[in-house]
Amino acid sequence: MFRFRPFIPGLIACGLALPAAGAARDIVDVAPRAFVPGESSSPPQAAPDGGVAFEAPFSADLDRAYWDAPLRPLPPAAAAIEVDLACDDPAAVRALTLHLQDGGHWISAQKTLAAPGRQTLRFRRSDFDRDPWPPPDGRPATVLRLSVWKGAARDVQLVLYGIRSRSFSAAVVLGSDSRTAPGETALAEQCAGRALELLDKAGLPAELIADDLERLDLRPYRLLVLPYNPRLSSGQIAVLERFVKRRNGRLAVFYNAHADLARLLGFKAPVYVTAPTAWTTVAFEENELPGLPAAMAHRTHHLLPVRAKADSAVELGVWLGPDNRPDERLPASAVSSSGIWFSHVPPFASPSALQWFLAALARSDRAYARDRDRYRAEIGRRDALAVATSRRLPAPSDEFRAVWAQPLPPALRRETFRQLADHGLHAVFEHVATAGDVLDGAREQPLAQALADARAAGLQLHAWCIAWSLHDLPAERVAALRAQNRLMQDVQGNELPWLCPSRTENRQLLIEACADLARRGVAGIHLDYVRYPARDGCYCPATRAAFETRLGRAVDSWPADVHPGALLAAEFDEFRRDEMTAFVAAAAAAVRAVDPSIRCSAAVFPLPEAVAQYGQDWPAWLRAGHLDCVVPMLYDPLASRFADLLDRCLAASPAPGKILPGIGISADHSQLDALAAAEQIHASRARQAAGFVFFHLDAALQRLLPSILGP
Ligand SMILES: [Zn+2]
Repeated sequence: MFRFRPFIPGLIACGLALPAAGAARDIVDVAPRAFVPGESSSPPQAAPDGGVAFEAPFSADLDRAYWDAPLRPLPPAAAAIEVDLACDDPAAVRALTLHLQDGGHWISAQKTLAAPGRQTLRFRRSDFDRDPWPPPDGRPATVLRLSVWKGAARDVQLVLYGIRSRSFSAAVVLGSDSRTAPGETALAEQCAGRALELLDKAGLPAELIADDLERLDLRPYRLLVLPYNPRLSSGQIAVLERFVKRRNGRLAVFYNAHADLARLLGFKAPVYVTAPTAWTTVAFEENELPGLPAAMAHRTHHLLPVRAKADSAVELGVWLGPDNRPDERLPASAVSSSGIWFSHVPPFASPSALQWFLAALARSDRAYARDRDRYRAEIGRRDALAVATSRRLPAPSDEFRAVWAQPLPPALRRETFRQLADHGLHAVFEHVATAGDVLDGAREQPLAQALADARAAGLQLHAWCIAWSLHDLPAERVAALRAQNRLMQDVQGNELPWLCPSRTENRQLLIEACADLARRGVAGIHLDYVRYPARDGCYCPATRAAFETRLGRAVDSWPADVHPGALLAAEFDEFRRDEMTAFVAAAAAAVRAVDPSIRCSAAVFPLPEAVAQYGQDWPAWLRAGHLDCVVPMLYDPLASRFADLLDRCLAASPAPGKILPGIGISADHSQLDALAAAEQIHASRARQAAGFVFFHLDAALQRLLPSILGP
């Protein structure tokens, strides 16, 4: 999560003399002699292609290598520092930190490498951990330090080509505390982060700016993005109107209810709609605009759609209803010569979302057609490479290919299962229960029908059961469990939306739900959230009593004595692991008592944090035979980091066939295109993993399947 501080007034004054938007300026002399190596680091050398090569000998006992260089004064309007570099083994680097020193103070920001090869790391003003940048006393930072942190025990080389300051012609407006609903500041930050990512991946990097628009100079910008700004004042609207009408700027507005804002862009006032079944897909008429995708995945229960009104305005895409048919009453987005509007918060930066965004933007402003076409060419090139990559290693005959699925609309299951089977998938892990509550779509009759649909398609249906977390249960169900005193507690005694595993009635509830699903004929039980919420819980009286029973005596100071580093920390960690392991053993035994052929599995975190942080000792679960396999959620956009995580899991497993890596096609922190997905499948096959499980079934995955698994 990025941090953000309001700008200082002095900077706004400086902003009046801004250089041309998008300008870049070298701020460090890229020559070997300019860099002074830090402790245990060696001097850089000239690289053959004109860059400067830095060596980080991470095979040795070294966590960081760093170098200092003199820094030229940063232009007052600089929005970011960009580091242009190349690295062939990005997974060997955990992170790269940029530190700026003024007098005695350091400020710093951190980034991870996104891919092998040459790339630009962008350190925005808002990424730095301590404002102000530049400092308030006017003393400019004079030293830049480049730190490279160990990600794997391998020697690695980075070649540096430039360090530049940048300003941008696009800005994302962060909703401030006073301009969002109470308690929604974090949501505003999340939406701004998504918008920045969308723009970054679209090749249109943006600056993050505060929402006190009346005080800001907006002249550098051609595009302003409003990612989640639910309470715009009349003053803010007036500024936006001047930006659009007098300066010919464009707005990209997400999930907004403001009628004046909609009218300013040439749309009718938004109308709020909600539904008990989530909308998951936007369908587009592909030939309506150059570059539009066929569909875009985005999940929501709430919409603020607008209709086109002005002559220049058109509606783009409609939401699909629960029957998978386009709902013409619900346009997903609209575009006019003044900007674009999306009916929910910014989508994750999937290839389809980028295609939609760039196609819409280019329709609003021809100047963006070049960016749209560049992205189309790039995604076409990567799709072709994905097909080649997926053919490099043949699929083993016993490879197990599966997908996690949110509850599927019953009317669509048969057709969806058939399509998945046609693409070579063997199993669907469909979400059917949370905390022992069997969801509506999986009650007696619907589950029988789902099993029949799976059989007809030749697919296995595994019941994906969320164990201890209550995050997706209806509020009234959580309230009922709270009233029965069954929830976890944090160190202050506050209840958490998790069931406490030390309460017998909670364990029984989950075990009986698993056995019940087993009796109804599922091919597998797939447990999820079989863990603690890291160190947040549980410290409730039942957990204390269970721990004291095991210890054979009372704990003097609870929970201080069991905190990390305290007297009983090691014993408490072991207790947490054993509580989870005992539950997994009992659940699997109950399932196998019904039918020994049912496959038992669990979604788990990678090592070492699974065991150390979450009490999830899955190597022990496999060794004891409680589970047939585990699915480590290795959600990372970078194939080599995915491979390193997988290697660590395989090394801890009694056999490679017990590890099914989870591939994050459309997870919160990783959206893969076809090539990135094909590279991770290749890495799994090269390591003889048992197969893989995609997260998760949506329009983004369906778009990729022909390229990565064949037609
Ligand atoms: Zn507890």
